[in-house]
Amino acid sequence: MADKTFNAFKMAQKQFDDVAETLGLDQATRDLLRTPDREHHFNIPIRMDDGSYKVFRGFRCQHNDARGPAKGGIRFHPLETIDTVRALSMWMTWKTAAVDIPLGGGKGGVICDVHQLSDREQELICRGWIRQVWKNIGPLEDVPAPDVMTNGQHMIWMMDEYEKITGKKYPGVITGKPVGSGGSLGRKEATGYGAIYTLREALKEMEIDIGSTSASFQGFGNVATHAMELYDFMGGKITAVSSWSNEHKKAFTFKKESGIDLEQLRSITSKFGEINIDKAKSHGYDIIDGDAWLTQDVDILFPAALENQINASNVDSISSQVKILVEGANGPTTPDADKVIEERGIWLIPDFLANAGGVTCSYFEQVQNNMNYYWEREEVFQKLDQAMTKAYHAVSDLARSRKIYMRDAAYMISVQKVAEACKLRGWV
Ligand code: NAD
Repeated sequence: MADKTFNAFKMAQKQFDDVAETLGLDQATRDLLRTPDREHHFNIPIRMDDGSYKVFRGFRCQHNDARGPAKGGIRFHPLETIDTVRALSMWMTWKTAAVDIPLGGGKGGVICDVHQLSDREQELICRGWIRQVWKNIGPLEDVPAPDVMTNGQHMIWMMDEYEKITGKKYPGVITGKPVGSGGSLGRKEATGYGAIYTLREALKEMEIDIGSTSASFQGFGNVATHAMELYDFMGGKITAVSSWSNEHKKAFTFKKESGIDLEQLRSITSKFGEINIDKAKSHGYDIIDGDAWLTQDVDILFPAALENQINASNVDSISSQVKILVEGANGPTTPDADKVIEERGIWLIPDFLANAGGVTCSYFEQVQNNMNYYWEREEVFQKLDQAMTKAYHAVSDLARSRKIYMRDAAYMISVQKVAEACKLRGWV
C-alpha cells in the first residue's frame, strides 16, 4: 500500500481477465466477476479522547456470494483505499473457492492509523463501522473477520454492537473472535500453519527434506509468526525476517545465519509486529535496510506483510538458491514479477491458496457457532490440514499436468467453480 502508483484492484482485474480468456468465459460472466457485486462506503464520526470530533472513512465490498455468504476481513490502515478493498474482496472469492468452503468473497476497511488511536477510540470505530453496515452483513449474508491491524478484541466489539442492535445472540456474525467468546481454537495459528501444510506438500513433491531447508520471511505479524512456528517445529531454519518500523517509517531485515530464535524475537516485538531494533542488535542480529529479506540465499521465501512487495523493480534480486515462494500475504507479487518467477522455475504457492487456512478456520468457527459446540485444538488442525492438503494437490496436479504456472492453475480452478455457481443460479 505504500506505493501510491500501485493499484491492487487493477492487478486483481488483470489476473482475472487473463484467466477469463484462458477459460473462454462469456462476456456476462466476465462483467459479473470483474467487479464487486455490492460496495458500501460510509463515514464513521467519533468523539476523540481530547473532546474533538473526527470522521473516519469505512468500506465493505461484497464481491460475490454465489457459493455462500460473503466472507473476508476488515483492515485498519492509514493508506487503505477502496480499490485495495475491492481487490481483496475479489481474492476472497477465489480463496473460498480454492479450499472449497461454501462461502463467497468480501472485504472491509477503515482509513485510520491504529498507532495513533486509544483503545476507546478503536472501540468507537468498531462500533461505528457496525452501525453503518449492520443491515448489509450477518451470518447469512456477509461475515467479517480480522485482517491487518485488527484482532479478536476488535471483532468482539463489533459482534457486541451487532447483537445490541438486533437484540439477539449472533456469534456467527463475525469470526476471529477470542477463544471463550465464540472463537475457535486454532484460529490465530490457522493462516500460518495452513501455509506451512502447503509448503510441506510442495517439498514432498520435490523430494526435499524440510529439515535441510532455510527460509526468509517478510513480516512478523499473525501470519508470519505462526508459519515460522510450524516451519521451525518441522525442522526448517529461518535465517532472516523483516518487519516495519513505525518510528523510522521503513522496514528492516533482521538476519542471523545460525537461525533466528522465534520466542526471543517475539519477546522484543510490539503488538503491531514491529521488532525492536536495539534489542535485536543486542541479541546478535544483523540489521539491514530495504528489501534484504528478498535477496537472501535461502530455499524458501515467505512474504507475509502486504501486497506489491515483489515487483519489477526487485524481482531480479531473488537469489538463484530460491526454490519455493509461499505467498502468506495477499497480492505480494505483481504480474510483472510473476513472469520472472515463472521463467526462473521458482515453484509458487499463490496467495489465495497458501493463506486460505485463515478463512477455512473461520468457516470452522462459524460451524461451531451454529452448533454451539466447540472442537478440540487437534480436531481443528486435523480438519485444516486435510482441507489445505487437498486444495494444494488439486492446484499442483493441474499445474503439473498442463505445465502451467501455479497461480494460473489456482485461478482456473477457483474462477471455474464460481462461474459455474453463478450459471447454476441463472445469474448469467
Ligand atoms: P499483521 O498486522 O499481524 O502483521 C503484519 C506484519 O507485516 C507486521 O510484522 C509488520 O511489521 C510487517 N510489515 C508491514 N509492512 C511491512 C514492510 N513494508 N516490510 C516488512 N514488513 C512489513 O498482519 P497479518 O494478519 O499477519 O497479515 C499479513 C498479510 O497476510 C496481509 O496481506 C493479510 O491480508 C494476509 N492475510 C492475513 C490473514 C490472517 O488470518 N491474519 C489471512 C489471510 C491473509
